[in-house]
Amino acid sequence: MQKIYVEKFGGASVNTSSAVKNVLSILGSESRKRIVVVSAMGKTTNALEKVVNLWHNEHRVEEKDFEALLSYHFEIIDGLFTKENDRMACRSLVALMVEECRAKILTLNPNDYDFLYDSIVSYGERLSTSIISSYMSAEGFSHRHVAAPDFIKTDNNFRTSDLKWKQTETLIKQNLLPLFDVCDTVLTQGFIGSTKEGYITTLGREGSDFSAAIFAYCSDAESMTIWKDVSGVMNADPKKMKNTVLLETVPYKEAIELSYYGASIIHPKTIKPLENKQIPLYVKSFNNPQDKGTVIYACKALCPLVPNYIFKDNQTLLSVYPKDFSFIAEENISKIFEVLSTFGIKVNMMQNSALSFSVCFDRNDNLLPEIIETLQQSYVVRYNNSLCLLTIRHYEENSVSNALNTEQYRILIEQKSRITLQCLVERKADS
Ligand code: ASP
Ligand code: MG
Repeated sequence: MQKIYVEKFGGASVNTSSAVKNVLSILGSESRKRIVVVSAMGKTTNALEKVVNLWHNEHRVEEKDFEALLSYHFEIIDGLFTKENDRMACRSLVALMVEECRAKILTLNPNDYDFLYDSIVSYGERLSTSIISSYMSAEGFSHRHVAAPDFIKTDNNFRTSDLKWKQTETLIKQNLLPLFDVCDTVLTQGFIGSTKEGYITTLGREGSDFSAAIFAYCSDAESMTIWKDVSGVMNADPKKMKNTVLLETVPYKEAIELSYYGASIIHPKTIKPLENKQIPLYVKSFNNPQDKGTVIYACKALCPLVPNYIFKDNQTLLSVYPKDFSFIAEENISKIFEVLSTFGIKVNMMQNSALSFSVCFDRNDNLLPEIIETLQQSYVVRYNNSLCLLTIRHYEENSVSNALNTEQYRILIEQKSRITLQCLVERKADS
């Protein structure tokens, strides 16, 4: 059986022409059979979201948004191709795709937001791999360029679709793996899939990691690598804390816990499929590809064993008090959860006392008024917005004071288990 490797390049790794050249040099430095999964270039997904929102909210498009999309990709193309013919051919291809996107949005129902979103936002990934494939061809880099929606099959929940694992696995095994008989590299898009009718779907923001894990799982890959602009998985976000440490090895279970609590380095759905087939996941720096980075696999312990800090901003703490002065008991709790689940709220922390029940979740200004109104039928409701939930895995005695200046923050709730400490904090008004 041939060994297949999956490598994922995110938006930041293909955001300029020199970044794209670097991708090719990484791929060229080692010869192996690989599925290369690529995201939209730079901030293209955000730009397309803006186009979609304008069509949805105001039923109009702005020419300059398409012009910007075109000129951004043209700039990358112009930096890539040395032969004029290749450059012009790639420019025409991209111009056609952008024109198709512009024509298409006008035919879509502005009110059908999720469907509209997937049809349009998916152009980001398609533009990206089309350019990279043309560049690979111009450089004589043998490969096949395939459309991810031909393999990644999902249900019809546009924008947050769930994967149809069986169909996807069959398609990858039957139609994608045989391509390795004729080439070493199969290039495709992250983030996008399609329904059984063939409509384009997306897997949720930052979903390309998950796409790569799907390809890895379904092709029984030897390993998967995510190439990033950081040296690997760190024990905290370097933007939030000083003296961060690179994690060298991380057990699958630990990685799942970290992303569950909000560590944003890897899309949360990525690890489980890899764990199920014991496929190691490397997280490496595209700027220093020779560095070891992090490997997530079936090891026993985190190494080095240091506290891991996860900050989740924009948290809402909602507290309810039964109006009839009854105690908070199971039936109240189940009613409250029923309301939260109707609104699709994921609870990040909860706490109860005899007379109140508090839950913390990601702030959502659209839903909050409705949630409060529903709960107010039976409860007095209070809430507090703009909190931060700090989770520390493998905490030590002074971990909280390491992470937060306690003069600036007030701790509203603190909870500890043997391994995990969580505190919900509020910035003091005078700091
Ligand atoms: N392009 C998509 C996004 O920016 C998917 C990804 O990058 O993973 O969310
Ligand atoms: Mg991205």
